[in-house]
Amino acid sequence: MKKILAIDAGGTKISYAVVDESGKFLNEIKTVPTPKTIEELIKVFKNIISENENNIDITAFATAGAVNINNTKVDSSTPNMPEGYNQLDFTSLSTKPVFVENDANCAAWAEYKIGAAKGEENTITITLGTGVGGGFIIDGRLLRGKSGRGGEVGSMKINGQKRICTCHRYDCWESYASGTGLKKTAEEIAQTDIFKSSIFNTKTPQDVTTYDIIEGLNKNDEYSKTVFNIWKQDLITGLINITNIFDPESIIISGGMGKFIDTEEIQNAINSEIVVSPVKIKLAKAGNYSGMIGCALLACEKK
Ligand SMILES: [Zn+2]
Repeated sequence: MKKILAIDAGGTKISYAVVDESGKFLNEIKTVPTPKTIEELIKVFKNIISENENNIDITAFATAGAVNINNTKVDSSTPNMPEGYNQLDFTSLSTKPVFVENDANCAAWAEYKIGAAKGEENTITITLGTGVGGGFIIDGRLLRGKSGRGGEVGSMKINGQKRICTCHRYDCWESYASGTGLKKTAEEIAQTDIFKSSIFNTKTPQDVTTYDIIEGLNKNDEYSKTVFNIWKQDLITGLINITNIFDPESIIISGGMGKFIDTEEIQNAINSEIVVSPVKIKLAKAGNYSGMIGCALLACEKK
């Protein structure tokens, strides 16, 4: 059975472990902080690889950013990674094969192979965090597009209210449906009269946090409920679009914001507005290290 060194390279930390072909961890997961410069980052990657190289067949990276069609390099800007990250040829890091894939795609593959969407050939995993990520499994294959950058669902346009996104474009779905989007909605609604009777009314609109809104929901605060309902409707709008285009068996929700939603409520709202057959909405099950499992399993299919 093949052994894969799986490395999850994110903006704040790098996690790694050896995984087998079935997605099982063969040793303890280790974590190191992400260095600030590309030189230091390459050194960290090389150290991790040389520690394990004799014992493995492939190194697989799950990374932030869009990955090229050959799975060797990050092909987009990656604001959270050191400058020069998208110049790095990952195959130069090891004498053995190296495979790189976008972390949201890896997470989707893990849900499909061993998680909440196991056995479902058409399934989409949406990650709701600071941004919105997506991985599309269509007819049992990972959708990559002509350049490898397909499935950038967070950049789908909704609403047309001219809300500026972190990518400097307007009205990306992620500028509404992410955690950052919830905060932005909170700020906007804090400019209206409903904020006057809110438990947070002593704060300036810019200082209301995502956590405040969640706390407000639990305390039955009308302002917080209004904000959350707008956020939820923006989430549902995007999920309806995805469902109508791809007709998936399931949409799996992962990421930090997932724990605040009622999947059954979202599922019913979607299914009452679509033209394709009903979809199931489920929370992710492959765990915090789904990126590592997914990149390892994808690497086995490719190499
Ligand atoms: Zn954007």
